[in-house]
This record gives sequence, C-alpha cells and structure tokens, in this order.
Amino acid sequence: MMSHPSTPPRDRIHAHTPMRCPICHGELQHVLVRDLGGVTATTIWQLHAGECPQHGWFQAEFVSRPPREIFAVTKPFGAARRVVVDGREYFSFSTAWNDLPPQEKRQRVDPLEESLWQTSELEERATVAG
Ligand SMILES: [Zn+2]
Repeated sequence: MMSHPSTPPRDRIHAHTPMRCPICHGELQHVLVRDLGGVTATTIWQLHAGECPQHGWFQAEFVSRPPREIFAVTKPFGAARRVVVDGREYFSFSTAWNDLPPQEKRQRVDPLEESLWQTSELEERATVAG
C-alpha cells in the first residue's frame, strides 16, 4: 500500500460505505473512511473499513474507481487475516467491478456505486476456483 507522507491521514468515523460483509452480505458497523487525498482534486483516494458483528473487520482501498477486492483484516487499517468459510480459506474477495469485462472498465463510473462493490456468493467462487 502506498503512503502519503505530505498529508496526515484524515479519518471519518460513522461514515457511509457501499461495502458489505463479503461472507454474509450484511451491513458493516463502526465504518471508518480514511481520506488519502489524491494527485489531483478530482481524484478520490479512500480506504474504507467496517466490522461485521459475525465475521470481523474488512477493508477496501480505491482510487477514483471501485475497489477490485475487499480484504479481511485484523482491525481497521490493520494486517490482512485469513477467514475460513466451510473449510475454505479466504484472504480477499473480488468485487463485481473486478469481474467486469475490460471494455466496461474503461467507462467512467462512480467509485462509490454500490452494485460494483458487491462480492459474489462464496459457493459460486468455490466452483470457479476449483
Ligand atoms: Zn458477515
């Protein structure tokens, strides 16, 4: 992850995020949004973190476009952690944005568009991975 030494991070608590728990798809609590600023005024560069009461902390970083993956973490902005669901290990969960065909990724999109942050059902992922 890139750091941004010139400006201290700005954290917003009780913020809104399109991110949901990638395991149960429930809403996340204790949402934190860290604004990392941008190269230009039109660049949105943020880190979102939130906690599922059952499955722990998750976070995603994105720059101007929706994130490709949601990661399981030990705490907000902490280390990656492993989650086990039905005997399978997961460190990250790919989003609908990541799964779009390349030509659709060239279009301009709202980085906070909720449908693009959706993660697929885990059973479906297991079939694809197998
Ligand atoms: Zn959950």
